[in-house]
Amino acid sequence: MKQQERLHNKDVKAIAKNMASFYRLGKKVRVYHGSTTSTRTQHFKKDEMIDVSMLTRILEVNTKKGYAIVEPNVPVDALYKAIIPYGFVPPVVMELPGITVGGGIQGIAGENSSFKWGAFHETCSEYEVVLGNGKIMTISPQKHADLFWGIAGSYGSIAIITKVKLKIIPAKPYIKLTYVTVKSFAEGVALMNQKLHDPIGFIEAYFYAKNFGTVMYGVLSDKGDSPISHFLRAYNDWFYLHAEKISRKQKVYTELIPLEDYLFRHNRGAYWMGTYVFEKLHIPFNRITRFLLNPLLKERIVMRFLQSINVSQRHFVQDFVMPIATLQKMLEYADKKIGIYPLLICPGYSKNNVDKLASTHIKNAKLVYDVGVYGHIGLEYPEFVRLNRDAEKKTKELGGRKWLYAHQYYTQDEFWDIYDKKWYANLRKKYFAERVFPDVYEKTHVKEKYTYSAVKGLWSVLLSPFKLPVS
Ligand SMILES: Cc1cc2nc3c(=O)[nH]c(=O)nc-3n(C[C@H](O)[C@H](O)[C@H](O)COP(=O)(O)OP(=O)(O)OC[C@H]3O[C@@H](n4cnc5c(N)ncnc54)[C@H](O)[C@@H]3O)c2cc1C
Repeated sequence: MKQQERLHNKDVKAIAKNMASFYRLGKKVRVYHGSTTSTRTQHFKKDEMIDVSMLTRILEVNTKKGYAIVEPNVPVDALYKAIIPYGFVPPVVMELPGITVGGGIQGIAGENSSFKWGAFHETCSEYEVVLGNGKIMTISPQKHADLFWGIAGSYGSIAIITKVKLKIIPAKPYIKLTYVTVKSFAEGVALMNQKLHDPIGFIEAYFYAKNFGTVMYGVLSDKGDSPISHFLRAYNDWFYLHAEKISRKQKVYTELIPLEDYLFRHNRGAYWMGTYVFEKLHIPFNRITRFLLNPLLKERIVMRFLQSINVSQRHFVQDFVMPIATLQKMLEYADKKIGIYPLLICPGYSKNNVDKLASTHIKNAKLVYDVGVYGHIGLEYPEFVRLNRDAEKKTKELGGRKWLYAHQYYTQDEFWDIYDKKWYANLRKKYFAERVFPDVYEKTHVKEKYTYSAVKGLWSVLLSPFKLPVS
């Protein structure tokens, strides 16, 4: 670990030096880390980027004190693999394995254990950061608390994260998962709200139609007392198909899922985004074709393919964060106006003093529900923008917010009416961010029409080991 620490310090010094020179020039930079789950098209030049892609080290695992210290460009599957041999696991593991620790903090990642632990950044207790002027600092809820809380959800617009201390908890070999079939949004929402009071560790729901869904909740388990299902092997079902089959057959069903299979259950098929590959290539969608194409249907490849063909304006990929009170109304809106299924619903909780110190993203939030809408929409560009604008208005009217990894089409005024500009601008000023980082509006607003290109996508998949995107 000592050698790793030395290499880490050397890399961070180089990043800080680079940052300081951008600051002197007053040049705006973006963060390059070699991959991205954000859906915006990326087209930035090398001299407009700070490269943190080398920060992939696990620096310490301390099971006695229950923490790990890692670099930000560790993807969650590598994080899991490094920690599980100690018999521990991070309490919030993003289910797309390519999401990185740094991206998860900067993008406020959450999971179906977030109703208990908070968003991913709330399981972190200390960051090392490089400020816009090149200064290296350690921040925590005790030291520079405003920056510590404010950096979450700031999308690389306040400082660069170079090291993260995060919580780890004892693992068990399985998740014992119960599926309950529900016949309406009202029934699903009521069941989820009720289950949140039970001693469970994980909960989420998928709706396959407005009158058919499944609420899934579970606990870590070491008892082999139920049937076992796997999701990582080429011949296994994709998770969302498995859950649907179960729910069509039984009202209530319980099974065991090995921990890794459960945490990364959406790797194969990238939720259901992988179905688009079959549609595009006119290949029948069945167990045999899924088996044969399995290597091409892992999340990293699917995301890279979708990114490169610039399809994000033909897909509707958004997560909406809604208060409990209006969750059902948002689901009804999604059903009527967007019409994409499955819909994903996952509760999350902000544990901290969010009123004063929360990031732009979750300010004033308490318990909220994420509504994930991911799928092909096939609208022409003007209608696509109109639908996004309409969804933005509806979300605001219902007291919710958009997750900003995806497209946003707000005007500046609308955006800053939702997010707290004064607080955000002060933070950027105080920590030397203004001069070098584009602000969160600029980073997340989509102003152009993307040009779709299937050929570019295929090239990108073929060249994927060599050519990496930027965010
Ligand atoms: C289909 C789909 C489904 C999704 N589902 C989920 C889900 O279930 N749960 C969930 O939590 N999220 C989900 N997301 C969103 C995802 O968590 C966020 O997009 C997350 O921010 C991605 O992290 P990343 O590692 O890919 O980083 P990127 O997307 O590349 O980065 C996110 C932001 O962080 C900045 N950044 C990255 N590293 C650093 C660093 N070291 N220092 C400073 N800034 C940095 C980047 O500049 C960028 O602005 C989903 C996204 C999609 C497209």
